[in-house]
Amino acid sequence: KAAGKGTWRLYHPDADHSRNELTRLSWKERIIDALEHDGFELHFQGIYHCHDKSLAHLEALVRMKDEGSPGGVIMPNNFIPHAEKTGKILDLDRWVIQRVIRQLADFPDCPSIAVNVSGRSFDDPDLPKYIHALLVQYGVSPKRLLVELTETSAVSDMTDAQRFIDALRATGCVVCLDDFGVGFASFAYLKQLKADVLKIDGLFIRDLQNDADSQVFVRGMVSIAHDLGKTTIAEFVENEVIFNMLVEFGVDQVQGYWLDKPQRDHPGLR
Ligand code: C2E
Ligand code: CA
Ligand code: CA
Ligand code: CA
Repeated sequence: KAAGKGTWRLYHPDADHSRNELTRLSWKERIIDALEHDGFELHFQGIYHCHDKSLAHLEALVRMKDEGSPGGVIMPNNFIPHAEKTGKILDLDRWVIQRVIRQLADFPDCPSIAVNVSGRSFDDPDLPKYIHALLVQYGVSPKRLLVELTETSAVSDMTDAQRFIDALRATGCVVCLDDFGVGFASFAYLKQLKADVLKIDGLFIRDLQNDADSQVFVRGMVSIAHDLGKTTIAEFVENEVIFNMLVEFGVDQVQGYWLDKPQRDHPGLR
């Protein structure tokens, strides 16, 4: 149909497959090219203390520069899956980490910054060493760097994951389990992976005010996290009603469009 009226195409499943292969290849090439030619940039979103709405830290969120796209950037949901599939995520995560550590070094009054590290990076056992070396080189206190472990569903070996997190915590930076509550093994992760912070997935927060089940889940997750001595963050806080419910549930920190959107020049940066 897309080719217009009065035409026809022969369909073969193999052809479809090779086309997917082609787009994957070109994404891989685009990611490599962007890594080599300053083709990525970081936007920052605030995470705020519930009790007084003061800024706790910032989260760095990566975008791919692209003049043809709205806002001049391609959003991560479009390219991160390709970066994960092709293994390029290891280089991308390292790029983000060095940019953030340089930012922290250049601006000593800048609040702490969280970076996202894909569960795929557990395949990169030297990453904790890389982070430690950069922190030392730039003279940045490890307490100013938070590491959010995302896509932990990609974790294939719990022992590797545990070793990775222990090495990360040994560097002194703060370790955070991202997207908590989604995926099959969240509570197993909580038991075995010794994170400092639990970030409750937006899935439970988005329609908290209309969803009694989500309220039960969030209350439960906060209570368990606190009993384990962990800090809790709720993301996707889009309005004041949700914020007030989270305060009542005892959530420690919040992030979301109600407070601010990710932006290149976040006022908290300076
Ligand atoms: P995430 O780590 O769960 O990040 C939060 C996402 O939710 C961000 O989308 C943020 O813009 C969005 N968000 C925050 N508050 C709200 C809200 O109130 N409403 C709505 N509708 N959205 C909100 P973003 O920037 O598109 O990032 C998407 C995902 O891409 C991230 O999810 C993370 O998994 C991944 N990602 C982003 N940057 C990096 C990176 O540097 N490395 C890796 N490995 N993954 C990254
Ligand atoms: Ca995150
Ligand atoms: Ca998240
Ligand atoms: Ca996510």
